[in-house]
Amino acid sequence: MAERRKLAAGNWKMNGTAADMAEIETLAQERSDATCEVLVCPPATLLERLARACEGGPVVVGGQDCHAEEKGAHTGDVSAAMLKDAGASYVILGHSERRQDHGETNEIVRAKTKAAWDAGLTAVICVGETLSEREASNTLDLISGQLAGSIPDKANGHNLVVAYEPVWAIGTGKVPTTDQIGEVHSMIRAKLEKRFGEGVGRSVRILYGGSVKPDNAAEIFAVSHVDGALVGGASLKAKDFGGIIAAL
Ligand code: PGA
Repeated sequence: MAERRKLAAGNWKMNGTAADMAEIETLAQERSDATCEVLVCPPATLLERLARACEGGPVVVGGQDCHAEEKGAHTGDVSAAMLKDAGASYVILGHSERRQDHGETNEIVRAKTKAAWDAGLTAVICVGETLSEREASNTLDLISGQLAGSIPDKANGHNLVVAYEPVWAIGTGKVPTTDQIGEVHSMIRAKLEKRFGEGVGRSVRILYGGSVKPDNAAEIFAVSHVDGALVGGASLKAKDFGGIIAAL
């Protein structure tokens, strides 16, 4: 199997001011020998500052969203080129909170991903089912539709990371069983291999996200085709995120 470098990605969401920079500095010092890749996605207001603070260290930074266009009359939006200019190397796209709060469809996520690639960013595309979709046994169909619709052609192991985040597990403390995670991750791997060829399909990292904590991380990371985590709440504290990184 192709070598995939593990990735621990922190999504700060709409949290964090300059006062929280100390957490990331602590994390960077403590994890300077981390063998996995460590990504922190702060709010856009902190991106440049964080990128500067992390320069030359083990932590890379990313955005949480970008517009599909490079520039123009879009009040309040941030383009992929702007994220790149501020020091980002990644951008999270299609997070369920964006899909729900901002009506982002697969087509929109696909257009944003193209913009991210044009700017030289790696896209972390999020997919996942709601509780009612899982209860209706629609999970695999729904996620395969999200993958087909959200990922543009020309994906590869450098420009794409997929994050499986069951909506019902985000911020709830509820986590799927390892069998449920394994079933979805194997399906995602198979879809990627089918569409992009075995080599590319095997090189794309697939993260699990949703209530990952230091005490459940090792069990989740042991599941086949789990190449790391997208972490919300627990990424805000250096101690918790550090515990998750240590489990990778
Ligand atoms: P959580 O969020 O770790 O707080 O559940 C995960 C996410 O939304 O990316």
